[in-house]
Formats: sequence, structure tokens, C-alpha cells
Amino acid sequence: MKLKLDKKDVENFLKGLIEGYDLYAPAQLTEGVSVFKKIDRPEEVNLTQPVTQKPAKEAFFPQSEVMFRYEEAGNRGQVISAEQTKRDRILLGARPCDIEAISIIEKVFTGEDYTDVYFLEKRKKTTIIGLGCNHPLSTCFCSSTGGGPFHRAGSDLFFTDLGEAYFVELLTEKGTAFRENKFFKEADPKDLALLKELEDKAFQKVDGSVPVEGIEKRLDLMIESPFWDSIHEKCIGCGVCTFLCPTCHCFDMTDEAVNLKGQRVRNWDSCLFPIYSLETSGHNPRPTGRERTRQRLMHKFNYFPKNFGRVACVGCGRCILYCPVQFDIREALLYASARRAKGLKGKSR
Ligand code: SF4
Ligand code: SF4
Repeated sequence: MKLKLDKKDVENFLKGLIEGYDLYAPAQLTEGVSVFKKIDRPEEVNLTQPVTQKPAKEAFFPQSEVMFRYEEAGNRGQVISAEQTKRDRILLGARPCDIEAISIIEKVFTGEDYTDVYFLEKRKKTTIIGLGCNHPLSTCFCSSTGGGPFHRAGSDLFFTDLGEAYFVELLTEKGTAFRENKFFKEADPKDLALLKELEDKAFQKVDGSVPVEGIEKRLDLMIESPFWDSIHEKCIGCGVCTFLCPTCHCFDMTDEAVNLKGQRVRNWDSCLFPIYSLETSGHNPRPTGRERTRQRLMHKFNYFPKNFGRVACVGCGRCILYCPVQFDIREALLYASARRAKGLKGKSR
């Protein structure tokens, strides 16, 4: 069914979502920092930024999350479960790359060997309203990694900004449950024509030429390549690329305790930090930036496809946009495919 939501009705539409659900959507946290956060007021929502600085994974896998609490009770300890996700949730305004990334993390967190109850509970309760990208950035290369600016996989509903209205597609059972929403109206053929035009324009803007196909096999031959000796040199190991990456899912756990009460918290971690792989003996199997940069790239483009059948990169471009020393992951991919990295030396926005 083809529907639309007039922009003049968006505020009331959002009010309805806030009343009925825990709504997560893009919002400006402070100047220059945009995130997906729980929304209390419609005016917090900003659907105009192409990709938020922090990815939508945070709605399922927060940067810092209490796993459980504990305290002494008599002679014994008592464990108190962390707060459960009680209400149904909506993730609104996630771009196709971020939605694809959630399905990548889902492969790890709901696999045969391990089920992450914290992630799974949130995922099951969430309806995803995707938002097409009319204006991809020069750093976007989602078309090279199996997606695209209007890739609908993973969305329950899909919105496209037509200017005066959002074109609305109901794609799954969860999405169809919104058919009777009083703010949705039937779209007309002009809206469909505009949708097609916007899609075509956006596809032309995205870099579909980054050589990701077959990268896994090419990297098999590169584990001891001298390439790693030099490519890591400018990396300062800040971890920004991994923290802002929508597919990175490593975490560390710490106990925060005062006297006889405490909580176990998990926090995002980064394979680019020197202590990430430091063992208790003092041995570090990834002692320098060379091994750590290699790990980042091999995990995304070699180990992950071997384990899960696709690369762990969705081409969102955040690691290119926000790296303080202009490390461009596309250069590494170009090298691995034995092509010269032309014109990718500087930061492009
Ligand atoms: S953002 Fe850049 S400098 Fe920081 S760890 Fe990643 S590649 Fe290295
Ligand atoms: S590796 Fe970079 S481009 Fe790929 S998904 Fe992560 S942040 Fe986006």
C-alpha cells in the first residue's frame, strides 16, 4: 500500500508515537553531535541530517549499559536484574546503512554460540521506520557494500522525504499494523513519480565503485603484506572510527562497586586501543598499530564474511568523515584489489 504523511501532520504523528511507544530518533545532542536518543518531545527529532554522528546501533547496544546490580543481603550476595525493556519501541529515521548494520550486529548477538539478551530484547520490541537518503555524502559508499540509499531491507516502514510530505511504505507485518494510522493518506501517482526521480538521483551520487566484492579472498593473501607496515603509521589509535562505526560491536565489562553494592556495566571497546588485546601475562598479541589496524580491516572484510557471509561494513563513511588523521578505509580496499588509490588521499566531505 502506498501512503504519505504530510509534513504539517508530522508533529502530531510524533506525539502519537511518543504516547504509545519508546521512540528513538535522530536528535542534536549538542552542537555538532547528533545521536539516536529516546525522544520526549517532537521538536527534538531531526530528520534532515544525512547520517548522524553516532550510529543507530546505540538504540539496541548503548555505549554504556548496566547488565545487573548486586548487593549484600544478609550473609549472601543478591543479584538484581537490570531494568527490562517494558514498552514496545520505534526506531524512526534510521538510514538504510544503519539498518543494515543492525542486522549485522544481530548475526553476532543472536548466533548459535551466543544470545545477547540485552540486544535481543530491545530488537524484538522494536519497529523500524527507515528513511531514504535523498542527499548522500561524498563519503557514502553503501552501494559498494550491498546496500544503497533506498535499500529497504530491515525496515518495517520506509519513509522518503518528498518535500511537502513523506512517502510511506509498509513493508512487514509490524509495518502493516500502522495502516490505520490517522495521519497517513493515500499517495497519488505524482508522489510515486517523484519517489522514483529522487531514488535515481541519489543512486548516482553514491560511490558504487569501492572494490568490496571478492575482498575476503584477496585479503587471504595479504596477512603478511608490507602494506600493513605503512598504512597504520598515521593512525593515532583514538578509536573514533570503531566507536562511530554502526557495525562494530566489541565491548568490555567493568564492576563499579562502593562498599557492598555495585553494578556490572558493559562499555563499547575498540580493537585499536593498545590494551584491548593485552593479556594478563603482559603479552600483547597485537603490540603495535600495524597489528591493530590489520585486525580492524581483516575482521570487517575477511573474518566476518567467513563467519557470517557478508562484510561487516555498510559504507556509511563515518570512519572517513570523523577520523582526525584522514585515514580512508576505501584506500585500503583499493590497494587490496591491486588498484591504484587515485584521488582518495585527502578527506572528502
Ligand atoms: S579514527 Fe583514525 S586515527 Fe582514530 S583510530 Fe580510527 S583510523 Fe586511527
Ligand atoms: S567501517 Fe567505516 S564505512 Fe564501514 S560501516 Fe564502519 S564506519 Fe561505516
